[in-house]
Amino acid sequence: MILMTPLFRSRFIALCATLAVTLGAVGCSSTNSSDDGTLHVSASFYPIAWLSEQIGGDRVTVTSVTPTNVEPHDYELSPADVTALSKADLIVYVAGFQPSMDDAVDQLTGPSVAELSSVADLQKASSAAVEADGSTSESNLDPHFWLDPVRMQAVAAEIERSLAEQDPDNAATYEKNLGALQQRLTALDSAYETGLATCERDTIVTSHAAFSYMANRYGLTQVSISGIDPESEPSPADLAAVKKAVEETGTTTIFTESLVSPKTANALAAETGTETAVLDPMESQPQEDDYLAAMESNLSALRTALSCQ
Ligand SMILES: [Zn+2]
Repeated sequence: MILMTPLFRSRFIALCATLAVTLGAVGCSSTNSSDDGTLHVSASFYPIAWLSEQIGGDRVTVTSVTPTNVEPHDYELSPADVTALSKADLIVYVAGFQPSMDDAVDQLTGPSVAELSSVADLQKASSAAVEADGSTSESNLDPHFWLDPVRMQAVAAEIERSLAEQDPDNAATYEKNLGALQQRLTALDSAYETGLATCERDTIVTSHAAFSYMANRYGLTQVSISGIDPESEPSPADLAAVKKAVEETGTTTIFTESLVSPKTANALAAETGTETAVLDPMESQPQEDDYLAAMESNLSALRTALSCQ
């Protein structure tokens, strides 16, 4: 069995393109043609699927590999998921975030692949987050780029580039859609910049450590109950450290999220006389909103919790 690495795959496509021009060859594509004339994109989880939809518009059919309302960190792809993935024209994902997705992509030779970790400028998770996580993941890179609107813009540009490469006939449409999307993401970044500029406090206490890039971008400090992986159980020492941080910083709000049990956050809030509020890490599609609306709700929750002007 020959495994196509992304580099080999792109060389293969380039070779085919050359042959097609010089020999008039057809049928040399390593991708699958779709019946409905759209490009079939498999995105590993919600924020990437949302970006692909915004940029692809009606020229693409986007499927999220991780189902709605499922926590993506440890999602195990089923054999049916892998079969569906093998039929995609383009797979868009972040290596190192979902081990099961990494394994599936390594096995497949058909679809083209856009891997986003370098363009997302992923950084090593803070040592505190890794320790709380207890994770032995190979990279220990923090995957949560999508909560930083500036990183979202870089990833959006890369997805547009991949779509245009796969489907040059619609490149102008993808470029136009990207332009409109970048304007909205720029406006979102400005809203965060302005909305979080003057606040009484700057520490946010979150359920899992999803908000580091966002916190760093806008001058906040994140204290998380769990580490990078929401399933990691905080130790008594971790909880004592969070409680101390709540008391020392005058924190008024413990943030919870919809896909993780709020039990620990609720107990901490009761113990420290604070409130709880939802801060959505957007790892699955928001209940009613899309990415932009949920990011605006998050900003509103942050402004309330931090008493911003
Ligand atoms: Zn997460």
